[in-house]
Amino acid sequence: LEGQLYQSQKMEAIGQLAGGVAHDFNNILTVIIGYAEILLLSMEREHALRYHVEQVLTAAGRAAELTAGLLAFSRKQLLHMKQLDLGEVARGLRKMLRRLIPEDIDFKTIIVEKELTILADKGQIEQVIMNLVTNAKDAMPKGGSLTLEIAPATMDEQFLQQHGFGEPGGYACITIADTGHGMDEETRKRLFEPFFTTKEAGKGTGLGTAIIYGIVKQHNGFISVDSEPGRGSTFSIYLPLIAATEQDAEELQENGPPPGG
Ligand code: ADP
Repeated sequence: LEGQLYQSQKMEAIGQLAGGVAHDFNNILTVIIGYAEILLLSMEREHALRYHVEQVLTAAGRAAELTAGLLAFSRKQLLHMKQLDLGEVARGLRKMLRRLIPEDIDFKTIIVEKELTILADKGQIEQVIMNLVTNAKDAMPKGGSLTLEIAPATMDEQFLQQHGFGEPGGYACITIADTGHGMDEETRKRLFEPFFTTKEAGKGTGLGTAIIYGIVKQHNGFISVDSEPGRGSTFSIYLPLIAATEQDAEELQENGPPPGG
């Protein structure tokens, strides 16, 4: 537990630093992109330097994606919280995920019939699932099986104490399991750090899991990871259930958890 506490303090410190840098960089990028766009608009179609300005915009766009990832990690994103059924969100993603996953991977979804109502930003939860599935498929270059499961979970004191987080109660759980190459201890320890990647240069940014971490925290949820080298990995994301009401989204936002809290 002590190790875990240290780990989470370290993540907080990295988050603070990353969030501050990302915020300032974003402002600078806005200026760069703004002026480059003006330049491009003022250029003739066949202008000799047009290509160069386009390269500036492409590079600045990539930088903006990185800062967006860092902002997500440091929980500085503005969320649009609504009452959602987690199963419905997952059902909506199924087709797109199937297209993303290579054919030699056996992809299964198991989604509970029962409604699992959570207070969440739909786009962000979709992003979490997308990032988890992307990593799972990347861990299986020679094929294998990938399962996405949506189910309710009850967290008891004992489990929470073991893992050192969360409030007891009802949760909705997203589980993504793969039969890929798994993770060694070093990777498991640094998994959620921004820019930590074991993928070859140009393949990964190392922000996928950092983004997951930030989004899940911002939703008052938590993550549990089970992985064994050579056997595969299972990621479970727990999000607190709420009682479904007829309230509209605005009202819920006022009553819900404070953004970034
Ligand atoms: P990236 O995917 O760009 O490398 P991530 O932050 O998403 O960045 O992941 C960081 C690292 O965690 C990966 O490079 C990989 O080593 C490890 N990882 C994440 N998910 C899995 C998985 N399902 N199986 C094996 N390793 C994983």
